[in-house]
Amino acid sequence: MNEQPAGSRGPALARFAAREEQSVGRRHPEPPPTHRGEYQRDRDRVIHSSAFRRLVYKTQVFVNHEGDLYRTRLTHSLEVAQIARTVAGVIGLNEYLVEAICLAHDLGHTPFGHAGQDALNDCMRDFGGFEHNYQSLRVVDKLEEKYADFPGLNLMYETREGVLKHCSAAHARGLGALGQRFLDKRQPSLEAQLANLADEIAYNSHDVDDGLRAGLLEIDELRQVAIFAELHDAVLERYPDLHGRRLIYEIVRRLIGRLVDDVIDESTRRIDAAEPDDIDAVRDAAGPLIAFSQPVATAHLELKRFLMQRLYRHPRVLRMTIKAGRIVGSLFEAFNNEIRLMPKGFADTAETRQREHGEAGRARVVADYIAGMTDRYAILEYERLFLPGEDG
Ligand code: MG
Repeated sequence: MNEQPAGSRGPALARFAAREEQSVGRRHPEPPPTHRGEYQRDRDRVIHSSAFRRLVYKTQVFVNHEGDLYRTRLTHSLEVAQIARTVAGVIGLNEYLVEAICLAHDLGHTPFGHAGQDALNDCMRDFGGFEHNYQSLRVVDKLEEKYADFPGLNLMYETREGVLKHCSAAHARGLGALGQRFLDKRQPSLEAQLANLADEIAYNSHDVDDGLRAGLLEIDELRQVAIFAELHDAVLERYPDLHGRRLIYEIVRRLIGRLVDDVIDESTRRIDAAEPDDIDAVRDAAGPLIAFSQPVATAHLELKRFLMQRLYRHPRVLRMTIKAGRIVGSLFEAFNNEIRLMPKGFADTAETRQREHGEAGRARVVADYIAGMTDRYAILEYERLFLPGEDG
């Protein structure tokens, strides 16, 4: 099934993997890299981007300054990439591409995780809304300012396809071939499908881990979730006296292992049945080929629902969610009413966009500015704008 492509600089690729010689390419043509493959170059560009560095101070569930023990978006992205590369290596997918997608997938996230995204989406409701996947694409296509010859990072089509995991029909219509797949309901590459599942595996597992260690969840209540109870029993059978962090992590590592094994088995089964010849056949397939089996999908959904009820709506998390929404909403209102409160570059762009596209153009620049903030920068800006005695 696997073969070494001519001039390959990586592991063996299956025929249905993304290959650079079959790529749709870059929006702005560039000479090929000398010592790397094209997707390696994409991965490297993501790592060197300023949006990637800021992920260290952005969070998903917990606010960054609450403690150093919790996942940040940076460590989350690394965990997603690790999980996805493992699976890609087994199935014969393009590890460099999958890694580039995983490392870039959260670049467009606002400060304060989903609370920030919901608040910004609210602020933008009259101006086209705010979607974090679409924003990740804006970051790599437009907002990063690094190269003389083009805006953004000028990534390969397949990397951009993977970054744009979901997209509303309204946004899709403005994106050409990249958006067309949402309108046609076609599949993305297997690497993109895999990055998507690896994201779910990573965050559900690490939210269990962080939630237990933070004392927001208890092992006893998590035992309501069948897959957790089963893995907890398995650990205690082998290590009857284990407790504390080691017990938690022995469960979490089994959870990740169980989900990863299942994705490998089920995806292999689906690929064998569909026999896609190449990436185009993958895109034309009736449904995703990278997937959980039905029983594990159900078990995983049960865990997800539990986390939604108990962790994301825990009073301590909710308190943070409400504060975060207020901060993002207040910042938007202040900057949108007075664009000169933003740094000069953003203010100048907002002025130009307002001339060209009206209020929606101005609001989009304000949203870009806020979305790029880290948790702590957003808090600092809020204090500078609204609290007496802060003139920073
Ligand atoms: Mg993610």
